Amino acid sequence: MSASTRPPERRPERGAAPGASQGNASSALPTLWRLVAPYRWRALGISVLIAGAAGLSQLGPQFVRYVFDVAIPRGDARLFLWICVALVEYYLVSEGLDFAQMYLSFSFTQDVIRDTRERAYEHLLSLPMARFTEERSGSLVSRVVSDVNALESMIQAGASRIIGQLFSILVVIGFLFAMNWQLALVALVVIAVMGTFTVVFQGPLRRLARKIRGRVGEMTAVATEAIGNIGVVKTFVAERAEFDRFKGESDAYRDLNMARRVQVGMMQGSIGLSSELGVAAVLLLGGWFVAQGGDGPAGLTAGELTAFLLYLNRLVGPVRFVLNFNNVLQSGVAALERIDDLLGEQPESSPSARPFATGAIRLENVHFRYPGAEAWALRGLSLEIPAGATAALVGPSGAGKSTVVRLLSRLYDPQEGDVRIGEHAVADFALDDLRRAVALVPQEPTLFSGSVLDNIRYGRPEATEADARRAAELANAHEFIEALPRGYATPVGERGVKLSGGQKQRVAIARAILKDARILVLDEATSNLDSESEAVIQDALDGLFARHGDVTSLVIAHRLSTVQGADDIFVLQDGRLAERGSHAELLQRHGIYARLWSIQAGERVRR
Ligand code: ATP
Repeated sequence: MSASTRPPERRPERGAAPGASQGNASSALPTLWRLVAPYRWRALGISVLIAGAAGLSQLGPQFVRYVFDVAIPRGDARLFLWICVALVEYYLVSEGLDFAQMYLSFSFTQDVIRDTRERAYEHLLSLPMARFTEERSGSLVSRVVSDVNALESMIQAGASRIIGQLFSILVVIGFLFAMNWQLALVALVVIAVMGTFTVVFQGPLRRLARKIRGRVGEMTAVATEAIGNIGVVKTFVAERAEFDRFKGESDAYRDLNMARRVQVGMMQGSIGLSSELGVAAVLLLGGWFVAQGGDGPAGLTAGELTAFLLYLNRLVGPVRFVLNFNNVLQSGVAALERIDDLLGEQPESSPSARPFATGAIRLENVHFRYPGAEAWALRGLSLEIPAGATAALVGPSGAGKSTVVRLLSRLYDPQEGDVRIGEHAVADFALDDLRRAVALVPQEPTLFSGSVLDNIRYGRPEATEADARRAAELANAHEFIEALPRGYATPVGERGVKLSGGQKQRVAIARAILKDARILVLDEATSNLDSESEAVIQDALDGLFARHGDVTSLVIAHRLSTVQGADDIFVLQDGRLAERGSHAELLQRHGIYARLWSIQAGERVRR
């Protein structure tokens, strides 16, 4: 198997399915670092600011202690007043710093999250075709939107508060030890007990967070699928069934969230209880020390105990915040893992930068099976279409006609055999160049949100409006476009004017003409059309063929009447070449083609 035909490598999904590998946060951390790295200096600046603000905010109780232990006993009203003025100034500076760090950390988070979202989406678009059939589109979208949002809470809390809180804890512990080491030791033991609870709950919280992220993906996928195919849902009166599918996911999501909430509640409760008991222990012990007077083994004044308790109060909040952050952290890490899985996937690529050069299209003994499929779609198919010729691929449904086209633009690579254009295998060309050289008018053309003009210029946004109009004229689309409410500027696509099947086909043909490609593929371009529209489109196609002598055209058709004029007709059956020749030759052979022709001739007469 050549390198180019090897299926893309994927890392196993973490905790997505029973038996899937259970990755840990550490493997996603390098990804987090890569995302944060461009802003590392800003992060450092914010950390310093946060640490400064946190350190400053701890000075408050010192004012109080000074008032109690010095100003009031001395009865010094002037000193008292000065301390009050200093206190106001202190709070002003402190609040100013708080605002600055809040603003900067928020902008830091938003920048990191925006980059993550854009990088994830860019990477998603670069993944091989097979990846998009393997996971439902809604679930893929949820990785880019909802998982990235879940990461936001973690980074925001991490950026704006965790660092400050950790710093506060260190500073306060320093103050506590300086004031009374025996009571400070009690406080440390309490923190250790609280930390133990965090560790105990970490595993279950992580597992639940992973399941929740996966469930959000499934829920989005179910809704996206139904809304994207709402016409089918309605005509089959399947609203109830679709609702039930969504409800199943939604209920499961609710249950998982409840389960997580219970775990979080138990964790917070255990941490809260430990902290209350710890404060009570310090209060009782401290009271006893004060009762012993300044001469006792751990002598303490009332002012010192009050300041100690105020500091302790300032310690409890940050400690609880840091420990409870575990919950946000586990959700963030679960989301990060899903983003990391996506970013770790191999994008489709061609090692070669060789520019495209046109020539005969040759398939040599091509065997191809879709990823995950059991049956072979192509089984040793060989065919050759000379450059500049118009060839037709016909044959029963499922014979492999569209598959040939997908291999030609390397949406997939064959497991065996070669697909060549001119001198080279398609894998030898730069991928973008190859795809620019192939224009496809698909069975069901897609119009994107935007104007008709945008849609015609989809493959060549730099083309002038005049070029686009010429392409539309060749595609027999100009007249109906001019009749639209705003002509070429009329919005189409999901939110715009709805075009008929034939009109969409003609816009798609204009798009293909404007692309000015060397290989033109028409996949059932005239199927599902009435005879009049078919004639209009056939006319457009004839114009297209006549325009470029050097364009190789490949027409896939069910209706054989549309391909009679082709230079060469290839009849496929079960992924193999069954017959080949001109229309007249194939009729004389009395094989599959002749049989299909006579069946369709009967249909034509009945019509
Ligand atoms: P039709 O005329 O109905 O469009 P076709 O000749 O173009 O059919 P292909 O679409 O090439 O047939 O399909 C060839 C075989 O590959 C079929 O058996 C089909 O079920 C299978 N197949 C097509 N697309 C996929 C896919 N994405 N994953 C798995 N199998 C696929």
